[in-house]
Amino acid sequence: MKVDIIASGSGGNCIALTYESRTILIDAGVAKTKIAKRLLECGIRPDQVTDIFITHAHGDHIKGLPLANQYRIDVWATDGEWKGISGVDDELRWVVETKFGEYEVIELNGIFIYPFKTHHDAYEPVGYTVEAYDGSRACVVFDTGKVDEEMLALMEAQVYIIEANHDPDMVEASNYPISVQSRILSDLGHLSNQQTAEALQKLIRGKGERIYLTHLSSNNNSPILAEMTVKAALRQKGFIAGTHYEIEVVSK
Ligand SMILES: [Zn+2]
Ligand SMILES: [Zn+2]
Repeated sequence: MKVDIIASGSGGNCIALTYESRTILIDAGVAKTKIAKRLLECGIRPDQVTDIFITHAHGDHIKGLPLANQYRIDVWATDGEWKGISGVDDELRWVVETKFGEYEVIELNGIFIYPFKTHHDAYEPVGYTVEAYDGSRACVVFDTGKVDEEMLALMEAQVYIIEANHDPDMVEASNYPISVQSRILSDLGHLSNQQTAEALQKLIRGKGERIYLTHLSSNNNSPILAEMTVKAALRQKGFIAGTHYEIEVVSK
């Protein structure tokens, strides 16, 4: 499975996953023209995109959704998140369904999508693990205040696209209002570098997995700090970057 980070950060998030001739997007959080341009730079024609999976209906994840109507792309979101999404043509709207309280696996030709519940101040946010027929798996976890065992059980993959949003001390020292600071730091906010490092410590097996640290706060984090925090946590397990796993901080 080919992974392209189309956009990452508070300004907007969008990931392209390509298997054979099909591309799916996880979120479409920057302007549609920007998504189309970036896709082409990655060698993907926008009309190759068959489906967009939405994690939650915050602007930095859905801003570019008009792309769907233009290119007739199916859009998937949970019932709860559809409450916050407008403007997608009816015949393109698909619901990520639950059965007995668990999300159902979605099968598109050659690709399986496993949604899982995340913890964020949205109606019904989710993350996604995507598995291709060849067994390759990529996991996308954006805004969540914590990573719990239920999530970890579905997150195992060879590629992790995960938010490393902030450094808690930088948030506390920032000039953000206290209410905003508490929101970011809460269990329904965003992952700190440390939380992301702890989750990856549980997930990484040292078998050459690839980590993309994404959704970095431009005010309350720095790429080097995010990277060092994760590397230190993995070093405790004896894993060295470049030998046991690859890591890239995406701050664009
Ligand atoms: Zn959000
Ligand atoms: Zn976000």
